[in-house]
Amino acid sequence: TTTIHWFRRDLRLRDNPALTDAAAQGPLVCLFVLDDEDAGSNATGAASRWWLHQSLVALIKDLEELGGKLILRRGKAAEAISGVTAETGAGRVVWNRLYEPWSVKRDKELKAALNDDGIAAESFAADMIREPWEVETKAGKPFSVFSPYWRVVQAQGDPSPPLPVPEKVTFHDGDIPSDLLDDWGLQPTKPNWAAEIAAEWTPGATGAAQRMAEFLSGPANDYKDGRNFPAMGATSCMSAHLHFGEVGPRQLWHATRSAMESGSVNDAAGWAFLRELGWRDFNRHLLFYNPDTVTENFRDNFDAFPWRDDERAFTAWTKGETGYPLVDAGMRELWRTGIMHNRVRMVVASFLVKHLMIDWRQGEAWFRDTLVDADLANNVGGWQWTAGCGADAAPYFRIFNPVAQGERFDPKGEYVRKWVPELGALPNKFLHKPWEAPDDVRADAGVALGKTYPAPIVDHPAARKRALAAFGAIKNSE
Ligand code: FAD
Repeated sequence: TTTIHWFRRDLRLRDNPALTDAAAQGPLVCLFVLDDEDAGSNATGAASRWWLHQSLVALIKDLEELGGKLILRRGKAAEAISGVTAETGAGRVVWNRLYEPWSVKRDKELKAALNDDGIAAESFAADMIREPWEVETKAGKPFSVFSPYWRVVQAQGDPSPPLPVPEKVTFHDGDIPSDLLDDWGLQPTKPNWAAEIAAEWTPGATGAAQRMAEFLSGPANDYKDGRNFPAMGATSCMSAHLHFGEVGPRQLWHATRSAMESGSVNDAAGWAFLRELGWRDFNRHLLFYNPDTVTENFRDNFDAFPWRDDERAFTAWTKGETGYPLVDAGMRELWRTGIMHNRVRMVVASFLVKHLMIDWRQGEAWFRDTLVDADLANNVGGWQWTAGCGADAAPYFRIFNPVAQGERFDPKGEYVRKWVPELGALPNKFLHKPWEAPDDVRADAGVALGKTYPAPIVDHPAARKRALAAFGAIKNSE
């Protein structure tokens, strides 16, 4: 049977179970659908669209090397797929599962509709180490706390080994109409805000494999402690590659385990890295079982939280002009490169929800549009965790002090100096709190608060007190 492999966020040939299955069945049709209609408010944001474009270019090239091509369609997936089944005479459609509520709903309806039309539809597991329903509590329930979840995953042992690129593929040889990728407008034209992002990244399976090999051959050994220091480069930078499925988590699992077995990566570092892949799965698990948490607080006592409407403060935050150097460095890194280090994400998110008391959903939406790795489950999970309203979240009373975080995790100020160069000449002692520097020290460094760099938009002790009072109030209303 002619089979359509519907590529979604599995933009790879290796370890792609649905593709392997399709290729074994008969003539293969490869399809990608840009489905903004079903995604609605969850549609891919601007920075991620840049990535998607590049990733599709890479996939098209990889398919061409196998002798095939990628059909591109835009619009509702169900309509695009029924069009292509009619044009190719395909009797079967396969894909790899995704776990976001909107996508689960769409795929379920699509499967039923295809079956009604006499077309077989089958989905496969490729995006998680263990699918949501494979990990459950002793009572057979979903988890809402990470540590016991992770213990169960570890006890289940290694996931299945990655599949190779399918061999001897026969592609459907009809002339099927396809959109031109360049016509989709996924890339910015004027101004080309993506130039710096482009210098930073190589989207696609080859770029992903290279990045992972580089990570495992060096930085991975420092991961356990180094992962908290934004200037160290001790993390893998795999998140966008993983989001688009240019590499699967089981491939990363096995590559890491082999590096641990051969002794090239120490066990503590290797497990610390796998644990973060575990958090990625856990966020998918949470979202799958709590679909309304895309927009609703996991803990409903937060529904009464007095979020502030403060457009000026929000804009200052987005532009990296809060007057807190670590926060500003993070927000500028995000704007320019499409990424932000995890430690700094926690600090800027905490600053928005606690110091400014702005709704986490506003921050989540900004991240969704500006991150190249924007991922609904991880983004919502990260924001709800930081705000204190999520499952297994940081307690609300833990309010990150952006100065202390800077002094601890960027002690030499390399990260802040890179992204906030106007503070570069300040001595380390005052780099994270320029307002405390004596006038002559500031003058010598060319720093004039309110002129060359903003004065803090809120006072830390006062903001902390205000947030704790608001939290106390919602606790009492429980
Ligand atoms: P590494 O440290 O090398 O980790 C390896 C992989 O594990 C990552 O690529 C990622 O897939 C996963 N991972 C690592 N840390 C986490 C974590 N805390 N939670 C879940 N998965 C993790 N990650 C996204 O992929 N997309 C997002 O939209 C996103 N939004 C976030 C928002 C906030 C407020 C916070 C606090 C965190 C968010 N994260 C998000 C999680 C994390 O910051 C990034 O995954 C990480 O910084 C990516 O860098 P890396 O690939 O070098 O990570």
